Amino acid sequence: MDTMMTPYIPVSRAYRSRLSEVDWDNLQPGAVATDHMLICDYAGGRWKDAEIVPFGPFSLSPTSLVFHYGQTIFEGMKAFRTEDDRVHIFRPGKHYQRLVKTAQRLCMPVVAPEIFREGLRRLVELEKDWVPAQPGGALYLRPFQIATDTRLSVRVSDSYRFAIVCAPWGAYFPGPVKVKVEREFTRAAKGGTGFAKCGGNYGGALYPTEQAMAEGYDQVLWTDGIHHKYVEESGMMNVFFVFGDKLVTPPLTDTILDGVTRDCLLTLAADAGISVEVRPVSVEELQHGLETGVVKEAFGAGTAAVVSPIGTIGIDGKDYYLPVEDGEGHGLSQLLKNALDDIRYGRRPDVHGWNYFV
Ligand code: PMP
Repeated sequence: MDTMMTPYIPVSRAYRSRLSEVDWDNLQPGAVATDHMLICDYAGGRWKDAEIVPFGPFSLSPTSLVFHYGQTIFEGMKAFRTEDDRVHIFRPGKHYQRLVKTAQRLCMPVVAPEIFREGLRRLVELEKDWVPAQPGGALYLRPFQIATDTRLSVRVSDSYRFAIVCAPWGAYFPGPVKVKVEREFTRAAKGGTGFAKCGGNYGGALYPTEQAMAEGYDQVLWTDGIHHKYVEESGMMNVFFVFGDKLVTPPLTDTILDGVTRDCLLTLAADAGISVEVRPVSVEELQHGLETGVVKEAFGAGTAAVVSPIGTIGIDGKDYYLPVEDGEGHGLSQLLKNALDDIRYGRRPDVHGWNYFV
């Protein structure tokens, strides 16, 4: 992304900052937006100039296509403050690539990479004081795009709004989660939109997740939409298992989101000489591994929680328990999380060039 021309993005500043009103000790993830946002509109076959403006509501016609036919896509990424007090955005290029794939699947145009990169950089630079300094904190960045043609008929929109909003996240140390292997509902079908980050995938997942919660679980562990035999992903996370001393994760297909955290953990595992298998994991193999103690760990990986240990897996009404990481860094999940955090917070050299300093 470095050889591109840097576009000028004008800023109109908020009259007054809400920063002093933030209760940093009780941050609800994603609940408070920062003072500014970036917007960039598309119409007549071209993108207009991007601008940064005070955070505030959009005014949209009720007949805007986004309210009816699902042309809405997004990304989720974070900016971090390193221990030597510099701020960077984590892997914006990789998130941009995914946005491009998502947009293509939803027949939407995409902002140019230099607008995405410079827009994020300029916005985060402006909101630098919102990037938490506490260990484990980050500024969550949410680029998204909606269809804005006003017409009550299903078709590809000719106009769009792209925007980026930001929200601080405090340190987030999730306890072990309890997941239910989903044998009835389907998150994503072959040939569908599972690999894309579009609103519909999330709306459709709510009901099965609520059902699982009513049964005492935190999340659904999705299986393939054909026979519900192979494990795919969980909530807003890709999944990993430790079988013996091997780190195993399902391969990317059109039903699984290509997680940036997943990619990082696979890279860091290879760096650490951990043996990794990217291959299908059947529910049968998982169940057998849980019964015989071959499965040592299970965890989810995603931008929000980074690494989320799985403590219980429910399969067809029976719960299997996994030893929970002791926090001392003995398990693979903790080792990989620490390795990733060390890069993000500037405690270890960023050999892969993931930190994009603002
Ligand atoms: N799967 C799904 C369905 C998700 O929404 C997310 C969150 N973006 C992930 C996996 C993890 O992806 P990432 O590591 O890029 O956050």
